[in-house]
Amino acid sequence: MLQFLKTQVYYPVLDLLFPKYCIACETLISAEAGFLCLSCKHTLPYTDMEKMEENVAQIRMLTKLPVQFAASLLYFIDAGMVRAMLHKLKYHNRPEIGVYLGELLGQKFSAQAWFRSVDAIVPVPLHAAKKAKRGYNQSECIAEGIANYSHKPILANVIKRTRNTSSQTDKSRKERMDNVADAFALRRAKQIEGKHILLVDDVLTTGATLASCGSSILKEANCTLSIATVAIAYH
Ligand SMILES: [Zn+2]
Repeated sequence: MLQFLKTQVYYPVLDLLFPKYCIACETLISAEAGFLCLSCKHTLPYTDMEKMEENVAQIRMLTKLPVQFAASLLYFIDAGMVRAMLHKLKYHNRPEIGVYLGELLGQKFSAQAWFRSVDAIVPVPLHAAKKAKRGYNQSECIAEGIANYSHKPILANVIKRTRNTSSQTDKSRKERMDNVADAFALRRAKQIEGKHILLVDDVLTTGATLASCGSSILKEANCTLSIATVAIAYH
């Protein structure tokens, strides 16, 4: 009976009261559809990098940081569906989108041995002032999704952002590196000692932020570092 109500009555009523839209293309979807319309769900631009020893994310990070593995889940294309989803996550108060994307990442990456050997997830921190303004850290939301799927612990307070850096988007590669240099400080080195840490962020562009955060970790803790991002952008 309950099932009947849910499918025959409840969802149509929900659709009327709370119309729901695909987070990538804005098409109206039914209350039971989750986050994406069927078309977007089946055309997400997966990179499959998690399966490749030599991938663009890995190569980009290795020029700056000795990582064990690096992979991004989706291609970020200007005006594309991934950009639309991440924009909502960061600027439209939609933390649940981060959790959803993290779950997609966890689900795909869990098949890989390098990912299974990860001991804990560390989201790239936001500066306290920026986090207070946004209300949440999008990387923590993504980490939460990865943890939901993989049951790995999240260590959100081991590293801190000590400088409130300005936006990276309008800067050159050199300016990006300078902008985030020494922006992070490791607080609880003991918690990650000897562990394989997965450093998580929303987008990998030049890798300057991830490299700065990662080197602060590797400088003071004897651990292994891998990197996972929801998207990778050309730069
Ligand atoms: Zn859609």
